[in-house]
Amino acid sequence: MPVLKCPAVVPNQIGGVSAPALLGGTFAKVNPADGREICQVARSTVEDVHLAIARAKQAQPAWAALTVVRRGEMLRQIAMLMREHRETLASLVSLETGKSQKDALGETDAAIEMGFFVAGEGRRFYGQTTTSAVPNRTAMVMRQPLGVAGLIIAANTPIANVAWKAFPALLCGNAAILKASEDTPISAWAFGELAREAGVPDGVYQTLHGFGEEAGAPLVEHPDVAVVSFTGSCEVGRWIAETAGRRLAKVCLELGGKNPLIVCDDADLQNAVTWTLGSAFSNAGQRCAAGSRILVFDAVYDRFTALLLEATHKLKVGTADTDDFGPVINEQQMHNMLASVARAREAGATVLTGGSRLTDASHGTGFFVAPTILEHVGANDEISRSELFGPITILYRVRDFEEAVTMANDSPFGLTASIHTQNINRAMAFVGRIQAGVAVVNGGTYGSEPHMPFGGLRQSGNGWREAGTQALDVYSDLKTVYINHHPGQV
Ligand code: NAD
Repeated sequence: MPVLKCPAVVPNQIGGVSAPALLGGTFAKVNPADGREICQVARSTVEDVHLAIARAKQAQPAWAALTVVRRGEMLRQIAMLMREHRETLASLVSLETGKSQKDALGETDAAIEMGFFVAGEGRRFYGQTTTSAVPNRTAMVMRQPLGVAGLIIAANTPIANVAWKAFPALLCGNAAILKASEDTPISAWAFGELAREAGVPDGVYQTLHGFGEEAGAPLVEHPDVAVVSFTGSCEVGRWIAETAGRRLAKVCLELGGKNPLIVCDDADLQNAVTWTLGSAFSNAGQRCAAGSRILVFDAVYDRFTALLLEATHKLKVGTADTDDFGPVINEQQMHNMLASVARAREAGATVLTGGSRLTDASHGTGFFVAPTILEHVGANDEISRSELFGPITILYRVRDFEEAVTMANDSPFGLTASIHTQNINRAMAFVGRIQAGVAVVNGGTYGSEPHMPFGGLRQSGNGWREAGTQALDVYSDLKTVYINHHPGQV
């Protein structure tokens, strides 16, 4: 049974071996809750990436030759080990992100559930059988693996991000190489340990650590990586699409959002406040699905704003289970988001609350940002159109439903959206007209279930979906099969 204790130097896991980076480089991983170093981490370079790809290529055919049911059994074993170690896994997530153990447990349980869901797909893995115009011919469509899958993830929900990609990539018969986020190497390492313990053969699942340009880019560029599945920023996603596109590799992009939450004049305002808080501030706003544009009908704007501010003032920021959210992931991101708020203020925005780092005794040197709400921001201002990935949201006053939907749709992104109304006709009109991958009535802009597809339009992605059986479409290709029986006979 592996001991899931954070190593002094988090190693790569290549070909069944835990090892430092080939050139010996390391970098420091700090705790966002206090800015102190937790451990060193293998700083991989192109040499490590090429070694992992070679091992993956060797190992993949035998993995693909197993039945899908057998692969599913091994994935179920990983999920069972994760469940056995859920407290430990959650404490590693909590350590590397600064989120509370309670929130880390919620995330870990979601990752485990994803494992069980995907493992069950081993018993379905549906293709299609159909008719043929030719007598005595059976026509069908089945799935086939792609080969080596390169998985590159963000840090916001680290163990869930691993699970969303690793489980479906492996079920489909690929060998998978995960490039962990440099901000969250520890839980990705722990997942690798459990995968090995579950019996996943050497080389079939490997983890690399390091920086994007050094350890991620070579994975994107290598001709033997058949599919690149990426979760992260638009800027990097665009580069990946271009680079992998040049060699015609398959690319799945799950990118940013600037998600609207509409509060109508007939909304249950208390419920709308609850969900606005969750959408804007849970996980310190580090969600692609964060509610960062709150569009409120003029008729209830003042009342809603007063209730929202009252509730926001009660939020507690810290690492305890009794706190509402923790720090942001690193110092640079904290400075970037606060600079963006400062620019908006200079351009005329009003900061209703927050807008600064929390540096009192209880927050010390951690990367804690106060829950921040702005108003008097133009719909086309920089801060309205770019993602901040922090606990910052903006209120907009809208006349009516028409203006709300038009403004909600006027965005470079199209990931998630929510409306608060008691009117079923209005709710259904919203569902029909909103241009988003996920539409929610009377809830938050966030939330995903393992059996439901997740992804967005426009710059939020490139059309693929994660989770659900739709995730299998990312990691497999189709094979059309014709079987002629009794050839020559009619
Ligand atoms: P990022 O793009 O900076 O980094 C994401 C990952 O890409 C990291 O592992 C990083 O090392 C790697 N990377 C960076 N440059 C690279 C390169 N040139 N080649 C290959 N890999 C490279 O993003 P971030 O700031 O860590 O994460 C936040 C972003 O992730 C936000 O935009 C957020 O919306 C997005 N996100 C999207 C979803 C979704 O499902 N749509 C989910 C979570 C996060």
